[in-house]
Amino acid sequence: MSWWALDSVLKEAAQYVEYYRVQEPVACPRCGQPLLNGPPSQQATRYCPWGHFRYPEDYDPETMAGM
Ligand SMILES: [Zn+2]
Repeated sequence: MSWWALDSVLKEAAQYVEYYRVQEPVACPRCGQPLLNGPPSQQATRYCPWGHFRYPEDYDPETMAGM
């Protein structure tokens, strides 16, 4: 493997990680319930119906990315 090929592999891996870092969570990390969308005034927010988790307040990409 050449240096150029290795460089390309590392960049692809970085993009892969970045892709999952920006994914919004779709399920509660504690109970697995699908998250509900926030009210019309806060459509960018999501929350667990049982109150475990709110996005983005409780979201930690270091541990939750890719869910
Ligand atoms: Zn929950």
